[in-house]
Amino acid sequence: MPEPNSPLRIAIIGAGPAGLSAAISLQKALPFTEITIYEQATVLREIGTGLNIQPNTWRMLDALNVSKNINPHTIFRTSDGHAVQHRNGRTGELLCSLGQDGTPPRHLHARALRSVLQTALLANVEVPIVLDSRLLRVTEGQHGDAPLNPVTGSPSLALHFSNGHTTTVDLLIGADGVRSVTCLHGKTAYRGLIPAEKLLGIEGFPDAVTFWHGPSEWVYTCNLRHGLYELTCMAGVSKPESEEWGEKVVRREEFMRPWKDFGPLVQEVLSHSTEIQRFPLFAGARLEKIVSRGSIALIGDASHPLSGAFGAGAAFAFEDSFVLSRALSWAYTRDLQLSEGLDLYDRVRSPHYKALYGILDRFRESDARMETLGLGFDEAVRHSVREKWGEEAGFGWVYGYDVQEVWERVVGEEDERLKQTAEAHLP
Ligand SMILES: Cc1cc2nc3c(=O)[nH]c(=O)nc-3n(C[C@H](O)[C@H](O)[C@H](O)COP(=O)(O)OP(=O)(O)OC[C@H]3O[C@@H](n4cnc5c(N)ncnc54)[C@H](O)[C@@H]3O)c2cc1C
Repeated sequence: MPEPNSPLRIAIIGAGPAGLSAAISLQKALPFTEITIYEQATVLREIGTGLNIQPNTWRMLDALNVSKNINPHTIFRTSDGHAVQHRNGRTGELLCSLGQDGTPPRHLHARALRSVLQTALLANVEVPIVLDSRLLRVTEGQHGDAPLNPVTGSPSLALHFSNGHTTTVDLLIGADGVRSVTCLHGKTAYRGLIPAEKLLGIEGFPDAVTFWHGPSEWVYTCNLRHGLYELTCMAGVSKPESEEWGEKVVRREEFMRPWKDFGPLVQEVLSHSTEIQRFPLFAGARLEKIVSRGSIALIGDASHPLSGAFGAGAAFAFEDSFVLSRALSWAYTRDLQLSEGLDLYDRVRSPHYKALYGILDRFRESDARMETLGLGFDEAVRHSVREKWGEEAGFGWVYGYDVQEVWERVVGEEDERLKQTAEAHLP
């Protein structure tokens, strides 16, 4: 591949976990780049809720050299080592407690404020972040023409922003979140923070990572340190009062309605909530390919509409960034066009997302089966926890998935393939 005469221009759209991790990975992996992150927000701040840091998230934070930026006193880990517990939301009965046997201590599940993760990532970002820049449109070529870039093997792209700015880039990384191409999912998450002392003062309330289940809705409580407790509730609200993310819920009845059949303990927890934000969940299309035109890659939520399922979206975003940067570097160091690196990225990540969609499809089938059984509250909760949340649900591998191992295997296979192709062309 020819050395570029000028740096390779890369635009990353979105400064969420995906965009920030992509910048960190790419700035290290490719020596000749000019990377810029464009973010639509006017101020860089995370929504004030919590986020799981799963074992696969920790592995990626190590790979990004970001773990060192997280002060252990700013994250919550359970005292008895459980990762998560599931309780009946009506009776409080503990139905299952998932442990973490075999997980190295530094990779044990943790819960943190989203801003803790954002600050840790930002500390390693060395490229400019241009705020107040909402990408509106992408066209090929600088002036309507579309010459091929010898490094990527594809035409350059013109980006048009809402503030009137236009720029031309060689590679575009779409890290603009789930609403990249989307529709409503039919469920709404309500999220808020409660002073920890209020909840820990309730008799019988566990200082744990707890899902309180109803037949299809749930309430989640978890300590976030900083004197705060997280409350997240998931309910089937197909037409929320607004589709805006993070809007304050003004009518308390909207928020309280879905949990009326839950028991007194959960009701008391909910009664302490003051400021609740609404997050209607979005479900984009399940894309067959997450790269296009030889110069565009989607990463993070933009590449997969999982709507927060598995509580590991940040890990998926980091895994995408890891593979994307390695795949581009692989192509560059083998004298291939970068479009071949993008294809390899797609060949590693698309099958992973297909496997995750398969799990969600099984869950949907389980919900449909439950509908036909006509179960009461407690039986339905047992059914749901057994089939979708406990050990038997069979998705523990998601957190054990080691993308670094997968990458080593794939790159070994690709290099072997290149060697055989070269040998076949020898005179
Ligand atoms: C209820 C719920 C609970 C969750 N819990 C967890 C959890 O415990 N652990 C976990 O790992 N994940 C969790 N997730 C998922 C996690 O929040 C996402 O997977 C993660 O934020 C994805 O990061 P991202 O960077 O891809 O997208 P986002 O975080 O959505 O960031 C996208 C960024 O792009 C910007 N943007 C969008 N459009 C444009 C545009 N046109 N131009 C410029 N900028 C643009 C946005 O402003 C935003 O800053 C949860 C999600 C939900 C809904």
